[in-house]
Amino acid sequence: MKIFFLRIANFFHPVTCSVCGDDLSFLSQTKICDKCKESFPVIKNLLCQKCGMPLYDGGEYCCICKKHPKEYAFDKMRSVYLYKDSLRSLILKFKYSGRSFLARDFGLYMYEAMKLHSFYNDAEFIIPVPLNIVRRIKRGYNQAELLANEISIKAGIPILRNVLSRKKITKPQFKLSKLERAKNIKDSFFVKNSGILKSKSVILIDDIATTSATVSACSLALKTVGTKKVYVLTLARD
Ligand SMILES: [Zn+2]
Ligand SMILES: [Zn+2]
Repeated sequence: MKIFFLRIANFFHPVTCSVCGDDLSFLSQTKICDKCKESFPVIKNLLCQKCGMPLYDGGEYCCICKKHPKEYAFDKMRSVYLYKDSLRSLILKFKYSGRSFLARDFGLYMYEAMKLHSFYNDAEFIIPVPLNIVRRIKRGYNQAELLANEISIKAGIPILRNVLSRKKITKPQFKLSKLERAKNIKDSFFVKNSGILKSKSVILIDDIATTSATVSACSLALKTVGTKKVYVLTLARD
């Protein structure tokens, strides 16, 4: 009976792929077809053991992590995709055009990638990178939190929503130069109810790592209150 109604609903409001517009099965839980998912630029094989940057010539660490081991405050970071092509436009729609429903597909991709790296197994909590309150209200949702929700449900790891916060209003990162970004983001996060994090390992979730400055600043705030390990997971990286 349910299937019958789904068929009727699909006739009037067909489910289509958010990238190519092809019809999806009326039972489909996803909003992105397999062909489009396969076309996204996945990061694999050779990468920096710390920050996850692709290393096309091999090696253990990227230049930054090799020369400045303390540059990033997190312990390890991995990203599922490179931030380009059709995935880039899709993430922009997810963030700025209200397509929050894409969190379900994106969260699944992140969860699948998470399972490939055993260090994530240590994590006791999942924490989303917070948005400042003005942007949170304007947008109606925090995209990192939507992704973190999906991953939390799939992995069975509890999410901490209100522990990490933004200190001051920061300008949108994409409008700034690399140097300005670092200045803008530095010291802009703080932790509330820090007791819960003492000696715990966490997974920090964001949608995109552009310079890694944001996730590093969050990690620094988390480490300052005694968090043992911070493992970052992002959907994409620049
Ligand atoms: Zn498609
Ligand atoms: Zn690195």
